Amino acid sequence: MYLSRYFLPNLKETPKEAEIVSHRYMLRAGMVRQQSAGIYSWLPMGLRVLKRIESIIREEQNRAGAIEILMPTIQPADLWRESGRYDAYGKQMLRITDRHERDMLFGPTNEEMVTDIFRSYVRSYKDLPLNLYHIQWKFRDEVRPRFGVMRGREFLMKDAYSFDTDPENARIAYNRMFVSYLRTFDRMGIKAIPMRAETGPIGGDMSHEFLILADTGESGVFCHKDYLDLPIPPENIDYENASDLQDIVLAWTNAYAATDEMHNEAEWAHVDKSDRMAARGIEVGHIFHFGTKYSEAMGAKVAGPDGVEKPVHMGSYGIGPSRLVAAIIEASHDDDGIIWPASVAPFDLGLINLKSGDAATDAACLDLYGRLENAGLQGASLPGWTSSACPDS
Ligand code: ATP
Ligand code: MG
Repeated sequence: MYLSRYFLPNLKETPKEAEIVSHRYMLRAGMVRQQSAGIYSWLPMGLRVLKRIESIIREEQNRAGAIEILMPTIQPADLWRESGRYDAYGKQMLRITDRHERDMLFGPTNEEMVTDIFRSYVRSYKDLPLNLYHIQWKFRDEVRPRFGVMRGREFLMKDAYSFDTDPENARIAYNRMFVSYLRTFDRMGIKAIPMRAETGPIGGDMSHEFLILADTGESGVFCHKDYLDLPIPPENIDYENASDLQDIVLAWTNAYAATDEMHNEAEWAHVDKSDRMAARGIEVGHIFHFGTKYSEAMGAKVAGPDGVEKPVHMGSYGIGPSRLVAAIIEASHDDDGIIWPASVAPFDLGLINLKSGDAATDAACLDLYGRLENAGLQGASLPGWTSSACPDS
């Protein structure tokens, strides 16, 4: 790829509307363009980063046994009437009427739709466990879209949904996603700490938000320093080994970690003062077990070995790839710009021809470029690179 032929519309001035560093750098580097409040076009360099984040997520979801599907962005309101959420969701939901006067909506999430898919095909405990995920655009009419793609109205989400026969197996499914999230964020070069989160009426301990520490985070976080050094599960982790998974989850939930919403002063008081980290954090993922909430309301049942049909136990597992682009920048930059973790960098290297136009140097550059590309390296472009002697990647 020739930088001179690339579309990299970077800005010299810092746009006034950008309040936080990631937003400033993303606009200056020509990664995204705002089209209306909280709605962005992804320009070539921003899209490259987004795609790399997506593919790390995909690889780790697949490794953990989740299966990719793709559900639509536009959903019929009737599914949401079945679960009772059509009215409950309020103004965050973008409601649409089609030409036949049918109520539709731009999906803010997909529990109802995936439950509908499940109930249409799955009848027996023999088909479980099952975990279906997709990576799809969501729309939530946020009251205050801000900080660029960090809190957008249209944003990308990876959302997975697990289906199990009973709470014990649902916990295994939950642990699988918990462990895969540890690996996913680590591969992006960031430290995301699982913190206990609201479980709603169902109670229990199966809801965690994954937060990365950054001064500009919207949540206050309180956690034990130990989280900074815990080992990440290896690539060959056995996702079928329930007891290994449980051990990892215990190790990662043992010490205190909570956002301000869940903070408990009495428990915090037990943490040694020198071990305390009170900071700000950005939520990049959320995993949640909600039991039979949707399966009961929508009639998603499976027959057990005794032939008796029971509502299936479900969980949902979200990650925000578009938010992650900004969150990674918040966690990794300096005054001169973004410091990309190698795994998500838009380009692996820049090749600079210092004697552009000189036949021998041009040929050497081309040769080098071809060899680097054959070695599996991606593209070559650095801001400031003015050479036109390198071919497209
Ligand atoms: P928040 O508390 O930040 O509003 P949420 O709890 O409503 O997020 P979830 O429903 O748990 O979000 O969504 C799963 C993931 O999707 C979040 O962890 C986050 O990474 C991402 N996400 C949610 N809302 C947005 C948004 N408005 N813009 C970008 N990413 C988002
Ligand atoms: Mg959440």
